[in-house]
Amino acid sequence: MTHDFSTRAVHDGQAFDPTTGAVIPPVYLTTTFVQKSVGDLRNGYEYTRGTNPTRDSLQVQLASLEGGRHGLSFSSGLAAEDALLRTVLAPGDHVLMGNDVYGGTHRLVHRIFVPWGVTLSVVDMSDLDAVRAALRPETKVLWVETPSNPLMTISDIAALADIGHAAGALVVVDNTFASPYLQTPLALGADVVVHSTTKYLGGHSDVLGGAIVLNDDDLASRVGFVQFAAGAVSGPMDAWLTTRGVKTLSLRMARHCENAQAIAESLVGHPALERVYYPGLPDHPGHELAARQMRGFGGMLSITFRGGAAAAKKFAESTTLFQLAESLGGVESLVNYPAEMTHASVRGTELEVPDNLIRLSVGIEDAADLIEDVRAALG
Ligand SMILES: *Cc1c(COP(=O)(O)O)cnc(C)c1O
Repeated sequence: MTHDFSTRAVHDGQAFDPTTGAVIPPVYLTTTFVQKSVGDLRNGYEYTRGTNPTRDSLQVQLASLEGGRHGLSFSSGLAAEDALLRTVLAPGDHVLMGNDVYGGTHRLVHRIFVPWGVTLSVVDMSDLDAVRAALRPETKVLWVETPSNPLMTISDIAALADIGHAAGALVVVDNTFASPYLQTPLALGADVVVHSTTKYLGGHSDVLGGAIVLNDDDLASRVGFVQFAAGAVSGPMDAWLTTRGVKTLSLRMARHCENAQAIAESLVGHPALERVYYPGLPDHPGHELAARQMRGFGGMLSITFRGGAAAAKKFAESTTLFQLAESLGGVESLVNYPAEMTHASVRGTELEVPDNLIRLSVGIEDAADLIEDVRAALG
């Protein structure tokens, strides 16, 4: 019988150690495994770049939460993306991605795959007609990120899966912002889910990681070959820290959503602000779609300042609980100035973000304290 989400997060891939009864599976800090005789392996374990029990435990846990048959974990989100793209792309192929995807994803394709002969174009993924028009016969990958970063645009995964499949493209969803607690793209028709587990899945800003989850056996074994042959695997300690974080994902995400909603509502109409971007607000253009496609609105929100870049930067440097740092998804709240921080790499491209924009990663602290911090920094 299959269990519900929170039960799976705690138990799947996390069986106790049969030799000692240790409740927590050990961290297998080993690079190699003793063979019984030449080539006769114990449970298939030979060398940690190929397989390691701690990485296996994470991969099973992540696949279970995304509702996929196969999970593959990597040393970072970008390593996971790179392994997937190397597996499926060849010179002459075209990649179509959202015009507000994670800057590092755009950089990976634009600076590494394009010089190899792949072509790239970007489109507003929330505009389905624009997506249909931008697909080409040679489009191999449709890359979707929803909610997007930093404008929290919501794209219709089920509709995009249909459109992408009709054009013969592999439909990939970067599910980092939502996490599988809020959204499971495979169930909506996507072929592949990509994660930076560095963010909500790990959840404590202490470990980098990435993952691919998918159902197709043949594609999984091809990505698995790249994982092994190119070697960007997660180390055992990193994998273990991530499994530990994932066990509390449900509790954390529920609190992230609650806090972000409270902060967003407290900011609406503030005279210093031009706009609040949060899908949980009824006037957000993606609100109804998010309510249908997600099980909550997430912990990320952005605000734009009437006072321009100077006001935005001053705010980012004035909060105290919200610490000025890149990244997101940890238990502690962070503030980020995308134009010069997370999105500096897309300056001058079609992905450039407004310079009066601030992005907040709302942590799991007490909402009243966070609201007070933000209000004080707004002056
Ligand atoms: C951080 C991030 C990535 C990249 O992951 P790393 O673990 O930093 O390599 C990819 N996509 C999104 C949406 C991210 O936020």
